[in-house]
Amino acid sequence: MKDTVVTRFLRYAAVDTQSKEDSDRFPSTEGQAVLAEMLVRELKETGVSDAEYDPVSGCVYAHIPANDGGRESRTLGFISHMDTSPETSGRNVKPRLIPDYDGGEITLNKEQGIMLSPEMYPELENYKGRTLIVTDGTTLLGADDKAGIAEIMTMTEALMSPEAPPHGRIAVAFTPDEEIGGGIARFDLGRFGADFAYTVDGGALGELEYECFNAASAKVKVRGVNIHTGEAKGKMKNAARILAEFDSLLPEGERPEETEGYEGFFHLERIEGGVESAEAEYLIRDHDRDKFESRKALMLDIAERLNVKYGAGTVTAELKDSYRNMREKIFPENMFLIENAERCMKELGIQPKIQPIRGGTDGAFLSWKGLPCPNLCAGGHNFHGRYEYCCAEAMEKIAEMLIKLSSRGVPLVRARTAQFRRKQRSAGKKIVMRRG
Ligand SMILES: [Zn+2]
Repeated sequence: MKDTVVTRFLRYAAVDTQSKEDSDRFPSTEGQAVLAEMLVRELKETGVSDAEYDPVSGCVYAHIPANDGGRESRTLGFISHMDTSPETSGRNVKPRLIPDYDGGEITLNKEQGIMLSPEMYPELENYKGRTLIVTDGTTLLGADDKAGIAEIMTMTEALMSPEAPPHGRIAVAFTPDEEIGGGIARFDLGRFGADFAYTVDGGALGELEYECFNAASAKVKVRGVNIHTGEAKGKMKNAARILAEFDSLLPEGERPEETEGYEGFFHLERIEGGVESAEAEYLIRDHDRDKFESRKALMLDIAERLNVKYGAGTVTAELKDSYRNMREKIFPENMFLIENAERCMKELGIQPKIQPIRGGTDGAFLSWKGLPCPNLCAGGHNFHGRYEYCCAEAMEKIAEMLIKLSSRGVPLVRARTAQFRRKQRSAGKKIVMRRG
């Protein structure tokens, strides 16, 4: 039987690739290397001769040679991650196909009474008549990001066939440990050898993303002075209360549970302590670079104000940057990546949905390393949990879109870049282009 996006996905989902925090091996779990070797074998079967698993970066790299007679000299890349979230078990995943979904409640697990209901997840209604792939209610599905892998593999097979449309050189990579962060730091950009790339790691069909948060973390420490409560007047400094005061001085309504879209926040992730000492950890997030910097400044300022009030050295705030918004690396000079993807989607009857990510991606890291890398949909929903599901027809469409993007996207790069330059020139702006 011929392999399809779905048969591939089911095969990959069966391999337990759940990543693990604080592991002493790399990739963090053995299963990821098992899947990597499997993907190398399958890539070779499609005729990609240089497919290889590199244990140093934990990645599979492969290149589909150009067939356009040298018309396009640049390389477009596609990336998906092999691991699944540590939040929910990825062992013994038993995906189930629901053909011709009727729009009603889906029983995931009869014995445990676990249901997937449109009441909780109204997007389900969009999939009436389609084929859904769901879990048995005890594990996650792993559509994040094995749907992306299945789509890239299907694209690879199509581009390697003699009937493939003309395309430039295409780079493919499958990466480890995305869910625990850090895996991408070992990514070998030279070996990947792409000029531009997309991660295929988004949600529903049509999602297209090139903006993410700027992110930092803060550790706030308070040193108190303890003394018998009977004689504490004017002497005690209660660290726990001072820390509570610190938190109360952060702006109201700017917490994850109260924000959406482009709204940034302070997130109190952990707090503990007593009279003697207290400590809290915060996440700071904002799409806007200036607002992000002001958020960090505000934390330092509050610490300073409290030190004036309670004595120098009482409060310290330590800030650490985590990742940056990739928008600055895409807009404006690499916007053709978004325009090309939009165009390919529209040609396939997909409605593009451009939205800011309220998180970060491996692509953001790569963009700041010099490889502009927005994010494309992979076709799943409810990531990281037992209610995760994906749609077979959406995955097939996305594979088609990747083929289109490979064969049409790159030639458009030139035209778009030239057009953009002309526009900027006529607007009297001096723009330094990164390439060519
Ligand atoms: Zn993912």
